[in-house]
Amino acid sequence: MDATIVCRNPADAREVVATYTAHGPVDVAAMCARAAIAQPHWGGLPGPRRGELLHRAADLLRRRGQQLAQRIVAEEGKLLADASGEVQRAVAVLHFHAGEAERLGGELADAAQAATLAFTRRRPLGVVALITPWNFPIAIPAWKLAPALAAGDAVVIKPSSAAPGAVLELVAVLHEAGVPADVVQVALGGAEVGLALADDPHVRALSFTGSTAVGRQLAQRVRGRVRFQGELGGNNPLVVLADADPARAVALACEGAFAAAGQKCTATRRLIVERPVYETMLAAFAERARELVLGAGVTEGVQVPPLIDAGAVESVLDAVAQARAHGAAVLSGGERANGELRYGSFIAPTVLAEVRPGMRVIDEEVFGPVCAVQCARDFDEAIALANAVPYGLSASICTNDLQRAFEFVERSDAGMVHVNRPTPGGDPHMPFGGLKDSSASGWREQGAEAVRFFTEQQTIYLHHGGAR
Ligand code: NAD
Repeated sequence: MDATIVCRNPADAREVVATYTAHGPVDVAAMCARAAIAQPHWGGLPGPRRGELLHRAADLLRRRGQQLAQRIVAEEGKLLADASGEVQRAVAVLHFHAGEAERLGGELADAAQAATLAFTRRRPLGVVALITPWNFPIAIPAWKLAPALAAGDAVVIKPSSAAPGAVLELVAVLHEAGVPADVVQVALGGAEVGLALADDPHVRALSFTGSTAVGRQLAQRVRGRVRFQGELGGNNPLVVLADADPARAVALACEGAFAAAGQKCTATRRLIVERPVYETMLAAFAERARELVLGAGVTEGVQVPPLIDAGAVESVLDAVAQARAHGAAVLSGGERANGELRYGSFIAPTVLAEVRPGMRVIDEEVFGPVCAVQCARDFDEAIALANAVPYGLSASICTNDLQRAFEFVERSDAGMVHVNRPTPGGDPHMPFGGLKDSSASGWREQGAEAVRFFTEQQTIYLHHGGAR
């Protein structure tokens, strides 16, 4: 019997917003086989022709922006403004990689032999698989799909069952723009479908974004057989030095920790404050956290949306309870919202102090609106605390001291470092990815780097018999 995927409104779980029929391993095998047949023609098109179709898809997507943003809010729960921004991000990503399809160049040099040119070219891998999380239900799929298609690969993508609607719409738009149906296909389902993709003999590369645990498991499973890219979890620090502008520091901490209810891989999980300003910063941050307005993503004036589902609420509250049991102080939040919001997956923005290793909020990624505040004796200890976790996705420092800012960049173990900016954020034309346990490979997503993962390189020597 076919399994059904049921998506409920994160702001009110009584409301079913969509149902989908899940695929099974047999469907996945058929999709990969069809992709393998379709890919040579697609990969054989001139890059600029593929680019033209990606530009067209971007334009179609822009026109559907509002409707798509509403579907994202209904399934995933984020604020409508954030969902609109995410769709626009997907549009920008498609345009960027449409341009990259025109620039799929290589190196050119004189060969050592006379009258011979040496050059390189990138060619598609063939069939690639993409597995994506729910928290950016269109931007992350777009930033994997666009470079894969620009490269000339055929793609089977498996979105998260928690919010698959945006990927279905994105792929429909690609088809409408002229990308052949078998060149980009969607497999719906959970782990079983993901594993079927990882195991399929047609798949040459697997690009995964999600939790560190699943990413590691997949990396192990495909090792030596399939090229693997894994962008995983984070436990990202924002360091505030004593000289920082206090208002700016509080604003950066609130945005980083509580926007999207902390459900960003790059969200600020730890706030590390230099001792002279620790007490005042902690009080101001907790006060601001208590003022933030919780509510449904569609409601005007709301600042913090719901978590994805009741399971996420349980997991986050467990981590808070564990920290509390080990001596943490809860300065704001730490509990489920009640009243009108009790039917949704709401947790009030939570600020914890007196935290230490051994608590999940310090050692692991707690995927919700929870920020642990740590006191650093001085700059050196702030850097040591920032780096003292297995993750290394994003880090930020708030200071007016340029020398220290640069020293922080130099000594930070994060793949992305910000100065006087929140820990989340990045541009579609710049590489994105983590270090340490935040990445399961050295490959980078986004920017000009992205297409490398989806291609292989050839070096050609052409003896042309000419004068040189
Ligand atoms: P998840 O790891 O639970 O799931 C990610 C995807 O993998 C989903 O499509 C899921 O269905 C699939 N999956 C789950 N188990 C699988 C298995 N055993 N085999 C194959 N596929 C499987 O993550 P999530 O809850 O969807 O997303 C949140 C996580 O993603 C957080 O850890 C967050 O930090 C991370 N994330 C990382 C980045 C980044 O770029 N580093 C970006 C966004 C989210």
